[in-house]
Amino acid sequence: MALHQTTEHHDNSIEDIYASGASERCLPKYRLPDQSTEASTAYSLVHDELMLDGNSRQNLATFCTTWVEPQVQKLMAEALDKNMIDKDEYPQTAELENRCVHILADLWHAQQSWETVGCSTTGSSEAAMLGGLAFKWKWRKRREAEGKDASKPNIVTGPVQICWLKFARYFDVEIREVPLEGDALGLKPEDLRRYCDENTIGVVATLGVTFTGIYEPVEALARELDAMQRDLGLDIPIHVDAASGGFIAPFIQRDLVWDFQIERVRSINASGHKYGLAPLGVGWVIWASKKDLPEELIFNVDYLGGNMPTFALNFSRPGGEIIAQYYNFLRLGREGYTAIQQACSDTAQWLGAELAKLEPFEMVYDGHGGLPAVAYRLTDSDHGYTLYDLSERVRMRGWQIASYPLPLNRKNTVVQRILIRHGVSRDLAQLLLNDIKSAIQHLTKNPVPNSTAKPGFHHG
Ligand SMILES: *Cc1c(COP(=O)(O)O)cnc(C)c1O
Repeated sequence: MALHQTTEHHDNSIEDIYASGASERCLPKYRLPDQSTEASTAYSLVHDELMLDGNSRQNLATFCTTWVEPQVQKLMAEALDKNMIDKDEYPQTAELENRCVHILADLWHAQQSWETVGCSTTGSSEAAMLGGLAFKWKWRKRREAEGKDASKPNIVTGPVQICWLKFARYFDVEIREVPLEGDALGLKPEDLRRYCDENTIGVVATLGVTFTGIYEPVEALARELDAMQRDLGLDIPIHVDAASGGFIAPFIQRDLVWDFQIERVRSINASGHKYGLAPLGVGWVIWASKKDLPEELIFNVDYLGGNMPTFALNFSRPGGEIIAQYYNFLRLGREGYTAIQQACSDTAQWLGAELAKLEPFEMVYDGHGGLPAVAYRLTDSDHGYTLYDLSERVRMRGWQIASYPLPLNRKNTVVQRILIRHGVSRDLAQLLLNDIKSAIQHLTKNPVPNSTAKPGFHHG
């Protein structure tokens, strides 16, 4: 009898979320449940399901922030209600955004930082769209003023991140992605004359090429465009996609000339949520001067109160990431960013040197001169396994390491890339190295028959 009673009051008397209600059933996954669920139970169910996502700190395929200070978490929680677009209701969040824009303009050597304009975005992709649109509008206006055809714009790039392919398709611009010849890993000055013409709205140079982590030679590209202006009368601006490099070069490659120090560089984007160290959801785009951002692209919005200029693809957007970006600037300063990026870079170079010692590998990028990253390929001999197999093997230990082919014309070269970012200590890198070594040993002893390549990796 007593036992029976206990069972009867099961739900109420045992306050254990795994022995009550929703957690005792398989839940409907693709339709709205009829009933509501206790908050703590629902929380646990969602929280637990996300365990299957894997451990982001071990994801060395992504550039994005996976570790933040507790203070950032706190600020993010406090900013939950802040809508970035509503600059009237949240003028101070808007002010922090404005400060970030000018901090970045100054960091990137804008000659007259009071003359610069820029804004936050959801990430570098949106920033690239805005940068590309400004180029397209400026070019079209100039062509129309000259009475020339303005219907066939093109943009010239090296091996770009997918966002530039999106820009080209969404906004009807022909993309001329210069194929990689020989050992090339990026755009070269000597490519430009062949690919640019009077319809070129701009050249995109990437500081931190997605596929390998190398920097394209922005200064040399600009010199060649200067020469082309002298010889051919073409005045073609440069946009630097500094998604990652924009937060690396100013701190640890300070002698490198790549930014607004070069007159021809008219706009730059960077991802705050990559080496900017802010949480996911913030990017930046800055123009060298107000003249570089055509006014027709700016909308003035008055229905939130006040009259606010806005240039963005989305309307509402969370403000927390921008607040966290400002916090990082204030908290770390030049000193802190330099220390963090240098530590990452040192670890990448150390890892590069260790990987180079391993028999099956040939380094493609060893961590020197570009991003804190390494990229390598298998030597030409038959190993009995591919890099895809190796990726899969280390995945058993939780590591995510990307393997993918280089872009045209080097599609036959498959590389593996490891990114070292804030929160990846030397010790963690050593643990990874040990797991790579064990994986190689295992695969050497157990070759993979009919090993197939798995395309489809997306470059984060
Ligand atoms: C990551 C990346 C992008 C896209 O940035 P998001 O912030 O993820 O939108 C663009 N360009 C380069 C070079 C990148 O590395």
